[in-house]
Amino acid sequence: MNKINLYFYSITLIFFLSTLILLLSFSKFYEFKGNLNNYLLSLLSNNSNIIPKFKEGRVWEIDLTNNQIYFFENGKLKTIIPIAYQAPYGRWYQTPTGYFRVGIKKEKHISSLFPVYMNYAVQMYEDFFIHEIPYYFNGQRVSSDFSGGCIRLEKNYAQKFYNLAKKDDLIVSYLTFDNLKIKKQFHPPVDYKNFFIRQRFNNPLRTKYFRGEDRRIDYIQHAGLDLSPLPIAKDLNVYSIYDGIVVKIVENGKEDHGLGNTIIIEHQIENKKIYSLYAHLSEIDKNLKINNFVKKGQILGKIGSTGFGCDYWRIGDDGCQNNNPLDIHLHLEIKNKPILESPIPAECEIKNIKTKCYGYTPHNPDKFGYFDPLGFIFEKK
Ligand SMILES: [Zn+2]
Repeated sequence: MNKINLYFYSITLIFFLSTLILLLSFSKFYEFKGNLNNYLLSLLSNNSNIIPKFKEGRVWEIDLTNNQIYFFENGKLKTIIPIAYQAPYGRWYQTPTGYFRVGIKKEKHISSLFPVYMNYAVQMYEDFFIHEIPYYFNGQRVSSDFSGGCIRLEKNYAQKFYNLAKKDDLIVSYLTFDNLKIKKQFHPPVDYKNFFIRQRFNNPLRTKYFRGEDRRIDYIQHAGLDLSPLPIAKDLNVYSIYDGIVVKIVENGKEDHGLGNTIIIEHQIENKKIYSLYAHLSEIDKNLKINNFVKKGQILGKIGSTGFGCDYWRIGDDGCQNNNPLDIHLHLEIKNKPILESPIPAECEIKNIKTKCYGYTPHNPDKFGYFDPLGFIFEKK
């Protein structure tokens, strides 16, 4: 071995050893409970990407796209809690999206469905909880395939969340467009880079109660996609996703069935008639009339909160709670018939009243003539 080779090998060895030491010390650092969280927070506190959706009060934002829970107090980011795992996308019992309130808390909790412990359980919505990764009575951890729609946290984070969450704190559970882009042939329905997915397709909404008990046993499922603007959004226009013809315009309060100002456009896509429905608009372009041709990307109106029980959608259970902030969002449906109700007729029971299904279906909406707008017009980046 000559001198140069010896020199080269020693340098490589020193480099290798120092990298190993560095890696080991880093892993020790990460092992230390809580430090990772502080480290993330310090990284992200200067990151303007995390924009609070509300400037007042205590708000838990559950970002299901990035698997993080952000806690804001009066618009200030206080802590970040990583999600270990959630229910897989598309299952009927998927983690719900929407606005909720922190409900009951159970430090020691046994599942009502399976023989497992789910400790540090905090109720987010009906029987959907945020809790420690469940384990069997023999101490074995439950696999991540086990899906009940709940959100699972590692023990130290579950404890932390359990201790910090207060009853009635606002919860906003949502998806982002971070890993999505619009397909080339379509125009986005809104300026989606400044919007979040407030409610996804197939999202469960509990409706039926056990007789005499304050417990709901059945659910209906969201037939569209709800898109809400971030506080920084400036462009609140609604755009036609594709070339088409105006086939229906419904005004708020006139047979709108809770959808508010609504417009339906007929498209010819790959030799099939497909309809896009835009609901809850604050206004529809006054010049648009039935049978008008609209171009892909043409403005149809502006997002709003029209419709629902008392003519407006509000954040909360009931549109009539006037103290609650308005829930401004676009309800977008893609379906195979130009009607407000479900293309395949079905009965939805809401507050013990049976009606045709508008915006929701009794089971997976793709069995009732709807398409998931997220998969129809968006694709993975
Ligand atoms: Zn909706």
